[in-house]
Amino acid sequence: MTNKPNVPPLYETLGLEPGASEEEVRSAYRRMAKRFHPDTNPEDPTSEELFKKVADAYRILSNPAARGRYDRTAGVHRPKSPAQSTEKEVHREPAREVNRDIHVRLHLTIGEAVRGGHRELKIPRKIPCIACEGSGFDSKYQNCSHCNTNGIVRKTTNVEITYPPGVRTGSKLRFATFGHRLPPGNISGDLIVEILLKPDSYIEVKDRDYHYRALIGLDTFIEGGKIVVPTPGVPTAVEIPPRMADGRILKISGKGLPAFSSSQAGDLYLKIELCVPKRLSRKERQLLDELMALPGFRPPVDGDGFIPKGD
Ligand SMILES: [Zn+2]
Repeated sequence: MTNKPNVPPLYETLGLEPGASEEEVRSAYRRMAKRFHPDTNPEDPTSEELFKKVADAYRILSNPAARGRYDRTAGVHRPKSPAQSTEKEVHREPAREVNRDIHVRLHLTIGEAVRGGHRELKIPRKIPCIACEGSGFDSKYQNCSHCNTNGIVRKTTNVEITYPPGVRTGSKLRFATFGHRLPPGNISGDLIVEILLKPDSYIEVKDRDYHYRALIGLDTFIEGGKIVVPTPGVPTAVEIPPRMADGRILKISGKGLPAFSSSQAGDLYLKIELCVPKRLSRKERQLLDELMALPGFRPPVDGDGFIPKGD
């Protein structure tokens, strides 16, 4: 080991200059470890200690985050990254793809998707360990117990996202910098939110048209009446004409989804469905029997005066 001035101790231990490439660090370690291995120096009591020093130095200098931290502390400036400086000398290691993006799915009702809105999401992010600043080693270059030398910890972050009106199943929204924050460079990835619409047995949206199953009672079915349709934004009151046949579709122009960018407002389609009880109480049964005994409720054989025939 040489005793050069201004060479930080860990580099000195491995006999390296501060600008050494990753490959130089590796080969210096192999050379030094072999030289000081206790098995090859059974007579030398200092070899074991030197061997440990070499291993410690290698552990830090071979870890880019730990080496960066050590260099900053020791005042080492490396204008080029190790990968660049070794480009001509050794086979360049392929850059390892770091996946920093986080993908989550957000389930929305059709109404929420049509209106747009906000949602707070709990995002499990990987971020650099605060205790060791991502190096994996503490200030004495011992293993960081906080992150178990990974340099990375998991932290759940609440992120409030805004989804625009009109998202659909499969829409993907990207929120920059809310992904994992990982080395090299401790760069933050993005959060990608995929929209899934919850199935709805009453509402269907086709382009900008809004289809709604309107369940109406016997009285509205016979006499007509007003119902309120939960259209996005402002609910729409619709007058149901009397005696519309079951299953008929009522179109209300311009009351679907509001106009959006270049597309016009859609239409509202109501499918009229007569809703009758599954079971009757004794009193209901009695009243129904009385009602059905009246001449106006007993359909004639030809159905004359009744719907659907007289519709
Ligand atoms: Zn740590």
